[in-house]
Amino acid sequence: MKITVWGCRGTLPTPGQHTLKYGGNTTCLEIRNKEGFLTIVDAGSGLRYLGKRIMQDGDSNEMCLMLTHSHWDHLMGFPFFIPAYFSKFKINVCGVQSARNYMAQSLARQLEAPYFPVNFDQLKADFNFSCKGPGCEKCVHLKVESIELSHPNGGYGFKFKEGKSCFVFLTDNELGYQHPGGRTVQDYVEFARDADLLFHDAQYTDEDIQKTRTWGHSTYNEVLDLAINANIKKLGLVHHDPDRTDDEIDEIVSELQTKAAARSTKLEIFAVYEGMQIELE
Ligand SMILES: [Zn+2]
Ligand SMILES: [Zn+2]
Repeated sequence: MKITVWGCRGTLPTPGQHTLKYGGNTTCLEIRNKEGFLTIVDAGSGLRYLGKRIMQDGDSNEMCLMLTHSHWDHLMGFPFFIPAYFSKFKINVCGVQSARNYMAQSLARQLEAPYFPVNFDQLKADFNFSCKGPGCEKCVHLKVESIELSHPNGGYGFKFKEGKSCFVFLTDNELGYQHPGGRTVQDYVEFARDADLLFHDAQYTDEDIQKTRTWGHSTYNEVLDLAINANIKKLGLVHHDPDRTDDEIDEIVSELQTKAAARSTKLEIFAVYEGMQIELE
């Protein structure tokens, strides 16, 4: 599978001089399986750019859109997703039921005039909201498993497998506090165990978390422990705090690399950036 990152910023889009390297768009991933079938994970503001690419390339008339949860930063790009406006596209919306409901509702109700000039009824794409849930075999062309996130209002993390390769995506997950419906840290360790690649929410520093505990996100030190305990090969930090500058993210990565080396692990650590592409064989 090949993963392309269209947005990895947390909470809200943050364009500006201090976010040029890692990007300011909110969560959106493109995953292509070996046959090139398109699975999109989350509809943050990065989705707009992926939509433009799909229109340019013209080779993905059917796609699957998986949603981790219904917070606004993971859905806000959808009204600006150009393929939604053309009848030749079939969009299977799967993932979390509440997010699917929310998306249908937000398009049907919240984006009515005067908030948005287009009603859901006017979208021409063939929408399928009837998937059975994460990993629904009808529309996901990868093997997918899910786990409940520890996050306010809930949500799901996903594990994508193809052949021997395994990618785990846990965003908006608070390892240091168990929200209602969330799982224990050990559950997340088992879920991610031996993955080739883990993207995990690392929004906060140890100092931030004194004020932000229960907000639904993890510290980068908590994520390092998880990745080492789960025997991950490559760790990508995501859901960068909107106030985190490129320089600060660089410092975090170098601090974690030093800590990982001191613990004699071969774990590879980096911060995910917009435009990043990773291919798993
Ligand atoms: Zn988020
Ligand atoms: Zn969230």
